[in-house]
Amino acid sequence: MTSLPVSFSVDLRELRLDDALALLEHGGYTLPDPKAGSVPYLQAVIDQLGELSLKDPLTGLSNRRYFQNVLAREIEMVARSGEPALLLMLDIDHFKNVNDTYGHPVGDTVLQTIARTLSACVRPMDTVARFGGEEFVIILPSCQGQYGLQVAERIRESVSALNIAIASGVTLKVTISIGGAYAPRWVRSTPELWMDRADIELYRAKSEGRNRVCIEPQPILAVSAEEKSLLFGPLSLGDPAWLESYANDGPAGSSGSAMNRVN
Ligand code: GH3
Ligand code: MG
Ligand code: MG
Repeated sequence: MTSLPVSFSVDLRELRLDDALALLEHGGYTLPDPKAGSVPYLQAVIDQLGELSLKDPLTGLSNRRYFQNVLAREIEMVARSGEPALLLMLDIDHFKNVNDTYGHPVGDTVLQTIARTLSACVRPMDTVARFGGEEFVIILPSCQGQYGLQVAERIRESVSALNIAIASGVTLKVTISIGGAYAPRWVRSTPELWMDRADIELYRAKSEGRNRVCIEPQPILAVSAEEKSLLFGPLSLGDPAWLESYANDGPAGSSGSAMNRVN
């Protein structure tokens, strides 16, 4: 982070804050009180703008920008700690039909209702975000054993059990498909590769009939402390895609690499 070399005072009247304040007001924020003094006031405006820039306006969930930050941080954590973390990608089934049949505002109500349901199904430490359109993503850190599959199934069932009120006396039912993949453990990888693997599972859930969960099986790896230190030594300078394939397949021509021992 850059530190500023000099301190300077601010006269709020010299700043053009109208657009920023209108954005915050529109986003439902209580505007800070200028009587607090110019520095606390500006800090509060900046904090609120920062928060606003990470939120999806329709659902109130975190947006794609926030999700990508968390994903990058999480993949780094897993590489070092070996703690399993699961990425879920969720997509509403036949959502275009909802818009076409009932109109876009009803589609928006469905998105908002599903967003609330997803948030209610996960732990506070998990990140639920709207990835875009009718697609959501969830990052589940410290996701041991069968927990990931149980959560994904709970989410799928909770959504399919919803009776979404769209007009007085009229309710609507929707389903979602979910694909999931664990972050590679003890291996440097990239958020893109992790997302690609979850996306392949989502595609599988769709092609196998929708309203289902598909999670990539997690390989059981036995990695020694020496091997771990190797990973964060010279190898860590290598290409992430190559490192991930090395972890999965071993070096070309070898019958079983140190990182490839599956119990
Ligand atoms: P599938 O089961 O294969 O996922 O089919 P689908 O109809 O859900 O998929 P498709 O990609 O064909 O349609 C997605 C639709 O999502 C189309 C688009 O109009 C709608 N959509 C995207 N963003 C929004 C939004 O913010 N509000 C509303 N109401 N609809 C949206
Ligand atoms: Mg989609
Ligand atoms: Mg869809």
